[in-house]
Amino acid sequence: MKSMHIRKGDTVEVLTGKDRKKRGKVLKVDRKQRRVVVEGVNRTKKHLRPSQSAPQGGVVDWELPVDVSNVMLVCSSCGRPTRIRRGRRGGEAFARICTRCEREI
Ligand SMILES: [Zn+2]
Repeated sequence: MKSMHIRKGDTVEVLTGKDRKKRGKVLKVDRKQRRVVVEGVNRTKKHLRPSQSAPQGGVVDWELPVDVSNVMLVCSSCGRPTRIRRGRRGGEAFARICTRCEREI
């Protein structure tokens, strides 16, 4: 299995679809499905029927997961969407290195 380079808490930029160019924080990572949930991205709404706890009904909205291939990691140092390579940095043998600014993400 290909390893996932995106972690919870990272900032990513969306590459495709209605949220293209939007940036958000990764809230959840599903390594098996290779999908991520990104704050404010791929939002969906559901109207709720009136129930005992919400007699008026209501609307809930939340983010659906997006495929990891549709987002790009944003470097925390240079602020640009970037690919990464693995390298040795500060004791970490496989640190994520920004290919644009060569700093660890
Ligand atoms: Zn960078």
